[in-house]
Amino acid sequence: MKKGLKVLLSKEQIEERVKELAAAISRDYQGKKVLLIGVLKGAVIFLSDLCRQLEIESQIDFMAVSSYGSSTASSGVVRILKDLDEEIEGRDVLLVEDIVDTGLTLKYLKENLQARRPRSLKIATLLDKPERRKVDIEPDYCGFRIPNEFVVGYGLDYNEEYRYLADICILLEFAQ
Ligand code: 5GP
Repeated sequence: MKKGLKVLLSKEQIEERVKELAAAISRDYQGKKVLLIGVLKGAVIFLSDLCRQLEIESQIDFMAVSSYGSSTASSGVVRILKDLDEEIEGRDVLLVEDIVDTGLTLKYLKENLQARRPRSLKIATLLDKPERRKVDIEPDYCGFRIPNEFVVGYGLDYNEEYRYLADICILLEFAQ
């Protein structure tokens, strides 16, 4: 393990939990084809593991957003850098996030997608930091509730580093 990192969730714990989430999602969407919308870049690894564990058909699309402000704090002002390739009207959409922190990004995305009239819209997040919430928004599927620490790995970065780590680690530089 690299210096300055402490494992919070191991590769095995993540794998196990992703399987459980996939089982729950497969049950809830039985007989339907779900459109998974990944939020770049953090959700890429979660989405790719999740879709391979689903027992239902799925399609994949991506959005990229940037929140104005520093790299470790969300300002709530969201800019769309890459929009979806396809229309989502009438589709069963599952928005796939890496982490919900203040909830500001998710609130923006949810309202933005809802306005496009999907048949259904739910949210799956791998991680949730409920302590930090600024707006009233709850994911429908959540992998792990974690304490208020800055984490990297399994898709999550700090200045574009560490996304490749198989474990989710606390960046000790910012440890609370
Ligand atoms: P929110 O708008 O909910 O405050 O922030 C969500 C976004 O902030 C996430 O998609 C992620 O990009 C970033 N973020 C929040 N907490 C963390 C964290 O602990 N680690 C990393 N790498 N990004 C985080």
